[in-house]
Amino acid sequence: MSAAHDWLFDPLPRAAVEIAGEERRFPVHRIYCVGQNYRAHAREMGDSGREPPFFFSKPADAVTHDNSVPYPPMTGNLHHEVELVVALGGGGRSIDPTQALSLVYGYAVGVDLTRRDLQAAAKKAGRPWTTAKGFDHSAPLSLLQPVVAGGHPAAAEISLEVNGEPRQQGSTADMTWSVPEIIAELSKYFELRAGDLIFTGTPPGVGPLSPGDVVACEIEGVGRLGFRLQES
Ligand code: MN
Repeated sequence: MSAAHDWLFDPLPRAAVEIAGEERRFPVHRIYCVGQNYRAHAREMGDSGREPPFFFSKPADAVTHDNSVPYPPMTGNLHHEVELVVALGGGGRSIDPTQALSLVYGYAVGVDLTRRDLQAAAKKAGRPWTTAKGFDHSAPLSLLQPVVAGGHPAAAEISLEVNGEPRQQGSTADMTWSVPEIIAELSKYFELRAGDLIFTGTPPGVGPLSPGDVVACEIEGVGRLGFRLQES
């Protein structure tokens, strides 16, 4: 019992996100994601666009700031999904939507990398999306922009280019569920904690990426994210 507080082996370092204008880093607790939160993307994925959004997750250590991201194994159809990412500085259960924004520490630009072929097979079979969504390096992220510096983005332009060609374009005003509504809804299912990241869904224009592609994303007032997919 004397060694009860020793680890069997050294734990891996905690997943973390860098913050614009701040030396300290944001420790990541969990990554939640919202599915089909922009009507036009829900339609391109074959739904009417009126279903309530739903949630899935990625492991905390899927976040990466690396400007070189590996093309993942076991897929022939890797897709980009640019998203506004909410970073929580506080949490709770059954959060009231009118209180939700006070829990937001900041925002970032993220890409929800998706093995679309595995996702399509999982949907067809009624199976989980873990291998389609929750793989290593599946959450490239920009620096966090604290609310105290940038405020809450309202009707911000969100875009993604591949090799300089526009692919995704939208406005955060077109989200089916707003950021406060997402936080309130998620907190019915999970106790939210400081350190949680929430990917809030993607605008239309998702499509495939190839090894060597250069991805550049921007959300007005939040920041920019750029990375290159490694050649295998
Ligand atoms: Mn997504």
